[in-house]
Parts: sequence; C-alpha cells; structure tokens
Amino acid sequence: METKYWVVDKTVENSGSYPQLAEAAQLLKEKQTVAFPTETVYGLGADATSDEAVDKIFKAKGRPSDNPLIVHIAEEKQLEELAEEIPETAKVLMKAFWPGPLTLVVKVKKGALSKKVTAGLDTVGIRMPRHPVALALIRLAGLPIAAPSANRSGKPSPTLARHVREDLAGKIAGIVDGGETGVGVESTVLDVTAKVPVILRPGGVTKEQLEERIGKVRLDPGLKGTGARPKAPGMKYTHYAPNAPVYLVDGSTAFMQQMIDAHRKKGEVTGAIVTEETSGEIRADVVAVCGRRSSLETVARHLYDTLRSFDAQKVDVIFSEIFPREGIGRAIMNRLEKAAGHRYVKEKDVQ
Ligand code: AMP
Ligand code: MG
Repeated sequence: METKYWVVDKTVENSGSYPQLAEAAQLLKEKQTVAFPTETVYGLGADATSDEAVDKIFKAKGRPSDNPLIVHIAEEKQLEELAEEIPETAKVLMKAFWPGPLTLVVKVKKGALSKKVTAGLDTVGIRMPRHPVALALIRLAGLPIAAPSANRSGKPSPTLARHVREDLAGKIAGIVDGGETGVGVESTVLDVTAKVPVILRPGGVTKEQLEERIGKVRLDPGLKGTGARPKAPGMKYTHYAPNAPVYLVDGSTAFMQQMIDAHRKKGEVTGAIVTEETSGEIRADVVAVCGRRSSLETVARHLYDTLRSFDAQKVDVIFSEIFPREGIGRAIMNRLEKAAGHRYVKEKDVQ
C-alpha cells in the first residue's frame, strides 16, 4: 500500500483548519487508517464507528484484539453520543484537563461504536487531544476517531513522524507529520466508573494533579508490580522495548559504570540511558541523554526516541538510570519498567 505523507506546521494559524488535512480526513471517512500527531505521541486513527476501519488499526500494528482502543473527540458533545452516563467527577476533570492528556473510561452507549474498539468491554476510554492538528483532523472527518499509538505493537511509541514511518510505512494510508509531539508519554487512563476513580495507566496528567481537583484517586494494583493483573488490558503486554535487553540501575553512577565495564570486558556493545546531570560521568559505546533529571518533563518528552535510538546502533545491552516515582516520574518509570521487562540491577544486592 502507498502511504501518503503530509507535512503540517502546527504553529501556522489557519483559524484551526489546515487545508493540507482535507485528503487525510477524506481517507478517514473512507474507512482508511491515518497517523497524526497529538500532544502525547502519534496516534493511528480510524473511524471508531466502523468494524472495517478499526480492524485495519489492529492489523497494521499487529495489536492483540483484546486490547481496546482510545477514542479521540474534538467537541464535548461527541462524548454524550458515546457515553451511557457521564459521572460528576468526569465533568470536573474534563473542565480542568480537556483538551489534554487524560483519557476517561466511562460506560459505553450501546451501538455507538464498533465493538472492536472496546474489545467487548462495556466501557470505553475517551479523550480530547490538546493539539491543533489532531483537533482539526477529527473535526474535518466529523467522526469519533479510534487511535492507539502509531507504532508496531511492542515497540516504543512514536514521538516523531519518522518513528511512524519506520514502523508502519506501506501498512497504512497516510501520515500527517506535525513535528515532535510534546508530552512524549501517553495519556493517563482513568476509570471514572468506580466511586474512587482508578488510574489504569499513569501518563501526562499526574496523580497529584487529579487529586487536587477530585480528592482521592487510586492506582490500579496491577501497576504496582505485585503480580496483580492490571485492569487495562493493554498493560499486561510487553511494550516499549528496544531490541537489546534493558536493565534499570538502582544505585550510584559509579555502580552503573561498573556494570557497563563488566559487559564491555565480555566484548559486548554497551548502551546507557543517562541524564544531562550524569552524562559526563558515564562511558559506554552509546551514551544517550534522555533529558534533565531536574526537569522530568524533558525526560518524558525524549524517552521513546532515546529507547528507539539503540536499535540503529546495534547495542547488545542497555543500562538505564531510574527516576523518582512522583508526578510525571510515575509514567516514566511505568514505561521504563516495561521496556526493561522489570529487570533491575541493585547496588545493595551486589556490594
Ligand atoms: P494505546 O492505545 O496504545 O495508547 O493504549 C491504550 C491503553 O488504554 C491500553 O493499555 C488499553 O488497554 C487501555 N484502555 C483502553 N480502553 C480501555 C477500557 N475501556 N478499559 C480499560 N482500559 C482501557
Ligand atoms: Mg500504545
């Protein structure tokens, strides 16, 4: 399949509509798949009301069919057409965080969406992205758009159009290139059907920010690494993994260097994920700086590009710094633990 490509400069003000998007919107109406930028990561969109269209997303990504898709909307009134009921907490959160990186899981209205979107669940995750190009495209298509991240299943999510091309060129109808995404990790998925809302996936809106608005919020026990089954079906799959194994280093920079040296001695090509603060202290074959420890937002923004960069360099093993599990750090650590398959090396175990 030929994959069409459009470049859209999101900073150019076109009263919210971009003429370059007309063809992309038309393809969505014709039940084709189109990748587009959002403020979190690139999404692979299709008409959420059509089985045929949604099926193409699962095929292009190689995504297991039991993993439901998030539906993207551009107007609040679209939510009323898709949700059976909208809890009060959802209304407060929409006002505070939409458009933005917060997905609300609500009871789905029967018949409003393709059953493949919800993977047979009676709930659906819905969000309104905070990106002028995404909003314009959804409005032009005039449809609710199902859109998971636009990567092959299991790979790090795409934060640049180039990442989408690497994974999906020839498999989808088009790619809208709107430059780098921004937040860099996916939306927070919050189940608001429970009395105390539950975070099913940490993301761009933090637990602290949610609690400021609605009081107590719980973390799905499946996220805590205790072996409990995660409630979001997608969270049980391996994800975000580069080709080489990743180890999370719980210890000092000197300990990280010791680990790297031990592998170099064995003749392995080593990689390291570090921050600006530590990069001068670490020597490995490939040293990738993912951001500043003093500003975890910068780490979130560049994490997936950093993880992807090792594949081209053919490293054998990757060691990564870890981050405090608070604010956006919770989302960063969730993604890093998945990329590493929860493998840790701990200084206190070795000394
Ligand atoms: P992605 O589409 O790659 O951003 O991943 C979406 C995540 O949201 C996956 O982990 C899904 O399992 C989860 N998700 C989507 N819809 C629902 C839902 N109705 N209930 C629970 N989790 C959901
Ligand atoms: Mg994904």
